[in-house]
Amino acid sequence: MLFAIYGNPVSHSKSPHLHNFTFLKLGFLDYCYTRIKLENGNELVDNFKKLKLLGANVTVPFKEDAFRQCDEIVGLAKEIKAVNTIVYKNNKTIGYNTDSIGFLKSIEDFDNVKKVLIIGAGGTAKAIAIALKHNNIQTTILNRSKEKLAYFKEAGIKSDDWNDFKAEDYDLVVNTTSAGLSDDSLPAPIEIINNIFSHTKYAYDVIYNKPTPFLTKANELGLTCKNGKDMLIFQAAFAFMLFSDYPEFNRISNLMKYAMEL
Ligand code: NDP
Repeated sequence: MLFAIYGNPVSHSKSPHLHNFTFLKLGFLDYCYTRIKLENGNELVDNFKKLKLLGANVTVPFKEDAFRQCDEIVGLAKEIKAVNTIVYKNNKTIGYNTDSIGFLKSIEDFDNVKKVLIIGAGGTAKAIAIALKHNNIQTTILNRSKEKLAYFKEAGIKSDDWNDFKAEDYDLVVNTTSAGLSDDSLPAPIEIINNIFSHTKYAYDVIYNKPTPFLTKANELGLTCKNGKDMLIFQAAFAFMLFSDYPEFNRISNLMKYAMEL
């Protein structure tokens, strides 16, 4: 039984390690998970079928391609218009979005989150904003440019660019931009970041592999902080349940947490 993650680049992905470790520990001995660097997103589902995969994850930049090509879309992926998990069942490719529920699970550590500011308006922001909307959590999007805001306005989610933005009181601020991933930048001008941090209790960055300037600053100001590691593990654990029908989420995510530290 073969599984894969599609992306470009994809060599950095932790998914093969997390899934293979967990397959092994839970006795799925004929299951194997690999990585596939795709050049052309239009070929994603054809490639999936040609390789007779049983399931796959999809990362940047192919989540919208996967959404367009799956035979059936289930759950919040319909509204997010992006798929990060594909399962082959009854001769059909079925697309899901587990980033959304992975994020929701990861904020269970925070008390009483009722109002959230999301910085960034890309695919990850969509998955998080739609998940929050379905949980009746009031959400605002802040992005450096206007172009990507149309999706959120259509979905009835408040959204501003840097020029129009006025900070309110939030419980949680989430950075979903790649600012700080391969440079030292903040996701918005320092005045805006300082203003936001004086209006929130919790700060969250979806980046998980390094301390970003955003989280470093939040930490210095005494905010409770979280990086994207749990989101990564939880989206993978929900995908694992879809791949294997193994029902124990906590067992899967604990094994993946352990694998992450190896
Ligand atoms: P997209 O390319 O779809 O969107 C990026 C967004 O960030 C855009 O709105 C863009 O603004 C903004 N942006 C990018 N660079 C900067 C910058 N320097 N300053 C301010 N704004 C910036 O990316 P994704 O949403 O797909 O991914 C974003 C991040 O989320 C990645 O780092 C990815 O690794 C991480 N991620 C983590 C996951 C996890 O499980 N922890 C899961 C999925 C993603 P503009 O519109 O103006 O261009």
